[in-house]
Amino acid sequence: MRRVSVFGSTGSIGVNTLDLLERQGGAGAFQVVALTGGRNVDLLASQARALRADIAVTAYEECLPALRAALHGSEIEAAAGPAALIEAAERPADWIMSAIVGAAALAPGYAALRHGTTLALANKESMVAAGPLFLEAARRHGARLLPVDSEHSAVFQALHGEDMASVERVIITASGGAFRDWPMERIARATVAEASTHPNWAMGQRITIDSASMFNKGMELIEAKELFGLRPDQIEAVIHPESVIHALVGFRDGALMAHMGVPDMRHAIGYALNWPERAELPVKRLDLAALGSLSFRPADPVRYPALRLAREVMATGGLAGAVYNAAKEVALDGFIAGAIGFLDMAAVVEQVLSDMSPRQGLGNPATTLDEVPATDAEARALGRARIAGRHGAGRHGASGDTPRGRI
Ligand code: NDP
Repeated sequence: MRRVSVFGSTGSIGVNTLDLLERQGGAGAFQVVALTGGRNVDLLASQARALRADIAVTAYEECLPALRAALHGSEIEAAAGPAALIEAAERPADWIMSAIVGAAALAPGYAALRHGTTLALANKESMVAAGPLFLEAARRHGARLLPVDSEHSAVFQALHGEDMASVERVIITASGGAFRDWPMERIARATVAEASTHPNWAMGQRITIDSASMFNKGMELIEAKELFGLRPDQIEAVIHPESVIHALVGFRDGALMAHMGVPDMRHAIGYALNWPERAELPVKRLDLAALGSLSFRPADPVRYPALRLAREVMATGGLAGAVYNAAKEVALDGFIAGAIGFLDMAAVVEQVLSDMSPRQGLGNPATTLDEVPATDAEARALGRARIAGRHGAGRHGASGDTPRGRI
């Protein structure tokens, strides 16, 4: 029986992964080794019971008593904390889903690869902050990395059976986010509420704002460079408002292979779960005639400075991705808190990248995973200082206005 674990099982990707595991036979077809969550221990415990997991782990020590209570009477082990997450990742398994949000996913994902386990990678930060380290661990320990982020799954599928040497370029599509049709002057004054509304679908606030600013797409460009070993000039982004084509791969004979489908993460998760086979999946089928037409437009680096900065990060390489990720997280906190304007987010990230560029070895890949949190912490501290500086400057500005949109 296939042994599987799901890290971040209580989140959006985790719940969809468990849905597919249940549809493909659940506890009768899979041995579920570990399920992990954060604060939602009731859901974690009920998932662990339904799938008869060996162990359930919460990331937080203070949640352990509640998890134990919720698992009372079952034979499922309960554990808590970062070390327990790593221990769970080291348990023998054939397939692990990495769907913890943020940098907390790095250590368990890395541990899984070092034990030769196939890692289905939804978490974006792993490749952006520590791509070379993950790839080296996979190579050295004979583990496989399967992309789950939908654009990267699309590229992976378009590359199936192809020789990487014949790949000319990879094109990642973007919906364009909330402000794709707004004039720049209006974008500068955008409110948190306006940035939190996605034109195509409903998602969490942070990811929706990251879509509007295109920091999410910037992360995906960096992720693609690392995952597929591409040069920065081989990776393009294009605005595709219908979000039907997820990515395209261009080959040296001029052919362009597009991956299309309705936006449903269960496709990419299911592909990674069943790879190299394809299983029947409960996703809607595309009706091309009903769709009528598809449109594309350039991803303007002036409208979307996050893309320009991602290109700089790709050119620098190494730990610059960790800086980009950490700085955009604190910039997003600052925007949500009302301390800075929408376009200030990119300005803050640019300043932090420039503050840290003289740092020795920023362009070199991390040699140990410990270097990533240290760089992350440094970038966050610099980002917070830059935000405080902007906020202060705004407060004492001549107009006395809020600093929203000031860059
Ligand atoms: P969610 O926020 O829905 O879920 C995150 C999961 O991580 C939950 O299980 C949460 O537990 C757990 N968690 C939160 N904090 C910690 C921590 N400090 N340590 C360990 N576990 C923690 O995220 P998503 O499922 O949406 O996304 C997961 C990852 O996949 C992200 O990196 C995201 O960028 C990426 N991704 C998501 C896509 C999507 O469509 N949702 C698409 C492509 C990529 P709890 O809820 O119990 O607190």
